[in-house]
Amino acid sequence: MNSSWTEVQRHRLKELNGPEKDLETAFEDDLQRNRAFQKLEKQLVYQERKRLDRLLDTRFRPLRCELESLLIDALKCEGFTRVETPTIISQNDLERMSIDRSHPFNDQVYRVDSKHCLRPMLAPGLYRLMKDLARIRSGKPVRIFEIGPCFRKETSGARHAGEFTMLNLVEMRIQKGSRRFRIETLAKRIMHAAGIDTYDLVDEPSEVYNTTLDIVCGSDPLEVASCAMGPHPLDAAWGIIDTWVGLGFGLERLLMARENSPGIGKWCKSVSYLDGIRLTL
Ligand code: ATP
Ligand code: MG
Repeated sequence: MNSSWTEVQRHRLKELNGPEKDLETAFEDDLQRNRAFQKLEKQLVYQERKRLDRLLDTRFRPLRCELESLLIDALKCEGFTRVETPTIISQNDLERMSIDRSHPFNDQVYRVDSKHCLRPMLAPGLYRLMKDLARIRSGKPVRIFEIGPCFRKETSGARHAGEFTMLNLVEMRIQKGSRRFRIETLAKRIMHAAGIDTYDLVDEPSEVYNTTLDIVCGSDPLEVASCAMGPHPLDAAWGIIDTWVGLGFGLERLLMARENSPGIGKWCKSVSYLDGIRLTL
């Protein structure tokens, strides 16, 4: 056996969602390999066309949108209200998150002009709402969540996208001693709704929150969410004095974990892929 897939062939089989075992095949010679490639490519194109038919004729929306609905329903059952805050945020709000021009995260921020940027996270908008809702709904729990696009200039590829979809939920006024338990309970609820029941919770250092409790999946651990709790040193800048817990999930990462995908690309907003299907069919 002295022939294996060329890089171009391997790339094509991967984008057609070829099974892992077929990517490792060895051949007697290049002629045998090229014939095998033609046959396998034809089969995979046929399969992917069928998947595309199912999407366009019966399912009508990609898995990421389906996932959004599942998460929204689960959060509604837990008493969380969906909110929407602006995608363009002010430099001041970014600085309230401690991200000033000297912060290590600053280089990842897409600037719109000298005073505005595309939000790299949902927390600034949610912090603002938390302040007003805590005041208006005095003494009552406050439970809100947002699902929407976030933007980061990223340098590393397979697990990072420049634009991704975040789910961030926040619950205020939890007894101080119950915050970690509440995070664990909400994590379980969301992960179950996303179709993932095997995961770990690990404490991780964070550039913005100092430490976070992360939800990770798989043997090569993939972070699907980071969770934090307050009172937190960031709260003062937003006028928050109550206790809170917050969980921030990446929807494309949840799909990677559930669908066992090595790359994030096919789950992102795209003009090359539709619901994980490469459109060069
Ligand atoms: P990582 O360490 O993997 O770069 P992070 O800790 O910087 O992620 P957080 O700020 O904790 O990310 O964001 C919350 C969640 O948003 C992450 O757990 C992940 O699921 C998702 N996420 C963050 N950055 C990206 C990205 N560039 N592309 C896709 N998903 C992302
Ligand atoms: Mg994180």
